[in-house]
Amino acid sequence: MLDKLKELEDEAKNKIEGVSDLEELKTLKVRYLGKKGELTRLLRSLGSVPAEDRPVIGKKANALREELERVIELREQSLQDEQRQEKWEKERIDVTLPGWPATVGQRHPLTMIIDEIKEIFTGLGFQLAYGPDIETDYYNFEALNIPADHPARDMQDSFYITDEFLLRTHTSPVQIRSMERQAPKLPVRIICLGKVYRRDDDATHSPMFHQCEGLVVDTDITFADLKGTLDLFAREMFGPEQRVRFRPSFFPFTEPSAEVDISCIMCSGKGCRTCSYTGWLEILGSGMVHPRVLEVSGYNPREVTGFAFGMGIERIAMLKYGIGDLRLFFSNDLRFLKQFS
Ligand SMILES: [Zn+2]
Repeated sequence: MLDKLKELEDEAKNKIEGVSDLEELKTLKVRYLGKKGELTRLLRSLGSVPAEDRPVIGKKANALREELERVIELREQSLQDEQRQEKWEKERIDVTLPGWPATVGQRHPLTMIIDEIKEIFTGLGFQLAYGPDIETDYYNFEALNIPADHPARDMQDSFYITDEFLLRTHTSPVQIRSMERQAPKLPVRIICLGKVYRRDDDATHSPMFHQCEGLVVDTDITFADLKGTLDLFAREMFGPEQRVRFRPSFFPFTEPSAEVDISCIMCSGKGCRTCSYTGWLEILGSGMVHPRVLEVSGYNPREVTGFAFGMGIERIAMLKYGIGDLRLFFSNDLRFLKQFS
């Protein structure tokens, strides 16, 4: 019987030592010390042992139970420690690693152009003016001398919300709103930059794009003032070598009207693919404010005159940065945007 106890002790200790996880250890504990465990079974067979040997064997068996309990507890602790260590190794933070650099944002190329335009014109004494993106038919067309049956409406195929309201197709309604607000005070000298909307979508047109609108109304404003202003703008925006050319054109809200070209940025006017070998690039539309537009806005066209001009900001940015596809501005591609830092 004593031999059996010794055998059980050796076997149990060996197994407990060799155990590699807590679950396995639990199973071993049940196997040796549980109600149906091996040591319990051995103690039950004590009846077959001669009476005089029982106290000694009983004492030994109890000592073995205590010993095994102690060994199991120790092993349990060391396994828990191992686990904790392992977890710590895995999750440990290396404080010597360099941190993630904070990414600093930058202005969108269109915002850069917008800021530049603002700077040029506010430097000339223009004030910034704003108007709503959702316009009435009256401000977007009617007041700008574009009645319901005017063909110019077709050129600005539009997003209507109701018969009366639409997304503005140009920033020109801000001219009317600014003059109405100020009339009959002089001078009016405003610049308006903002989003406009038309039903176009290709490499050079987007359903949403940006325009810049300028308006000056005062006594004795002439076409020469318009020319001087735009000439200076072109040189400020594209460089001191820039030349400007005015071509007769038509807009319902100006008379006379002119398209404005600048000498080609790519070839300095020699002729290349960008300028279709003309040496000139069209950048904006302009003209003297139509008497009827002055009249509906509260000014007397016999006493005051004015000039106005409008340009697409994307067009300016594409020319200035040599960008071929207008859609790049709105595709949120960081590889594109980061080039302007
Ligand atoms: Zn060219």
